[in-house]
Amino acid sequence: MLNDFIYGPLSSERFKKIIPNIKRLLEEARKKNIPVIYTNDSHIKGVDYELRIWGDHAIKGTKGAEVIDELKPTSSDYIIEKRRYSAFFNTDLDLLLRELEVDSLILTGVSTDVCVLHTAADAFFRGYKIIIPEDCVEAFTEEGHKWALDYMRRIYKAEILKLEDVLKRIEDDPDPPNPGERMIRTEAEHRSFTTIIKSRAKKVMRGGNKTQYIWLAFDILAVLLILLMFNRPYWRLDVSKNNQTVGSVLLYLDHVKYTSNDPFVKSLKMGRISNIIGILKFFIVVMLIGIVIRAMLLEKGAPIAVMFRLIAFLALISVVTANTQVLKVLIHQGLTPRGLTIVDSYTVFSTPDWGYYSSILAFVLTLVTFTIETVIFIIKLVARGVKEFVEEIKKRP
Ligand code: ZN
Repeated sequence: MLNDFIYGPLSSERFKKIIPNIKRLLEEARKKNIPVIYTNDSHIKGVDYELRIWGDHAIKGTKGAEVIDELKPTSSDYIIEKRRYSAFFNTDLDLLLRELEVDSLILTGVSTDVCVLHTAADAFFRGYKIIIPEDCVEAFTEEGHKWALDYMRRIYKAEILKLEDVLKRIEDDPDPPNPGERMIRTEAEHRSFTTIIKSRAKKVMRGGNKTQYIWLAFDILAVLLILLMFNRPYWRLDVSKNNQTVGSVLLYLDHVKYTSNDPFVKSLKMGRISNIIGILKFFIVVMLIGIVIRAMLLEKGAPIAVMFRLIAFLALISVVTANTQVLKVLIHQGLTPRGLTIVDSYTVFSTPDWGYYSSILAFVLTLVTFTIETVIFIIKLVARGVKEFVEEIKKRP
């Protein structure tokens, strides 16, 4: 709000009462990194048509065209000068908003039925969502104020809210703006998990970098492969008696299938394997969560994380294949791990595979890479929090 609207020719007592409300909103918005844009009247004396209706006000270069002391802009705010009611008309506001990746506007100031109304119209035409805290806008008359709010609600789908509700919305925003991505969620998007994912996906489609695509595709492929493995035997135990094949045991990721009714074949219970499968199932859950988190965050600078993920993926493959060796070794050494028995007259063949120790090593490696990835993620989150805190301290007088 400008001096001429509070202390000059167009002043009104009604306007003064919204100053503290706007001040509060400004402070919260700056704290949350929401861009603050001043769209100020800056008229040319003797030229601007509007002055014939309202008389001289906010003439460019005069004290009257300056923002009131109570609401002075800071160095991080943006200032747009305008010569008509609408803040969009022949200004570069739209360009600024697009570059800031803004999709919703919170309109404040005076007058509800003039500049706010026409700015809302232009915002609506350009596809912006409009939020108006009704106690942060005011008009010369109560009638004009109420009429304009109702009009904007009906015709421009503006959300008319109390300041408190807008502040709460900002506070609860699950996805607060950051320098690379400035957004305020609107009612429809608010707290909706699927819309967060959708907006992220849209952003990636629009201008996401290749690493992000590769990362996501890699995760999805990994999970699909694991799911595929549930339906394919990855290890076979063939049993013969007196050189006659009597059946086999097929090992799947999550179950064991016996291909004969021979009592010895039936007795080969793969208790040891099921432990490892339990860990694998946990691994899949972790990976699925990883995909969701990744889709939500899609952070920049992911090459290191991609490398970790690649190692984890290779490790997983080696775990699955190397597990066969565990049983092979056990059987050949005539050991009896939980329920597995060897009878002399039967011969047991197993398919050859990678080494036992490599499977343990691979599994440890997998866990380590996941741990590192998670720790890096937490460190990043904490660092961001600390940075914001320091910046806030710096801003304090
Ligand atoms: Zn004006």
